[in-house]
Amino acid sequence: MGRSLLGGGGLVNVLVTGASRGIGERIARAFCKEGHRVLLNYHVDKERALRVRDALRAQGGEAEVCGGDVADPAAARALVKRTVELWGAIDGLVNNAGLCRDKTILKMTEEEWRRVLDVNLSGTFWCLKFAAEEMARKKSGFIINIASLLALRGGVGCANYAAAKAGVVGLTKSAARELGRFNVRVNAVLPGFHNTDMGAAAWAKNAEKILGEHVLGRLGDLDELGRFVVFLSQQQSVSGQIFNFESRVV
Ligand code: NAP
Repeated sequence: MGRSLLGGGGLVNVLVTGASRGIGERIARAFCKEGHRVLLNYHVDKERALRVRDALRAQGGEAEVCGGDVADPAAARALVKRTVELWGAIDGLVNNAGLCRDKTILKMTEEEWRRVLDVNLSGTFWCLKFAAEEMARKKSGFIINIASLLALRGGVGCANYAAAKAGVVGLTKSAARELGRFNVRVNAVLPGFHNTDMGAAAWAKNAEKILGEHVLGRLGDLDELGRFVVFLSQQQSVSGQIFNFESRVV
């Protein structure tokens, strides 16, 4: 069966950055569950990425791992190249890798500002650019950028993170405008609070307040978020759009 094609429910080869845990892991799982092939990127925790790969394989999924810091353009290029080497083409990219270094503006160091912008915004840009080069050549592909609701809400102690994620929103809309003529769709998903490693500290401190703001009285479900990203990847007529994923009203 031809397996490198998009559209019409075809199976796809997808690069998911930051897929060794948390939201990225669930997105990878959701793609694998539908029979798609997934390259799982991680930065430092190879063991964890290998465990995710093995679990996906045990469920019949097709997955490989590839390390690399998305903030490094050479590493981002290598991730795209690896996907093509493995499976002949890259059909989808989910830009999920991200980190936070929370500090109020008055206390924030240059390193904390730069690193968050480098990974969350520039890392998204590099992966998008190199994947887009491949996708434009074959005139098909999708890119889904995982931003954050904080891009729209802002927050205390996360100006670097909110600014980077707002940048991802602008990048998404610009990329959609530029790449549409190559049949490459670019959208962003803005998760609200999810209880992953990244969210653990905020959850420990503010669980009641966070829950209270959710009109459904519960957090977003990680597996549902994974399925939502897969669903979005299949919408052939949608590009340049921003989707909030949670029940806090902005
Ligand atoms: P997480 O549990 O901390 O996982 C982060 C993932 O990103 C890990 O796989 C990590 O790999 C990888 N990563 C970090 N820096 C990287 C880099 N420089 N290059 C490549 N990979 C890197 O985070 P999460 O909660 O799942 O968040 C995933 C995405 O959703 C992020 O973009 C985050 O901003 C966004 N988001 C999260 C929430 C939330 O409440 N959790 C809300 C809104 C948006 P290693 O383990 O190898 O470091």
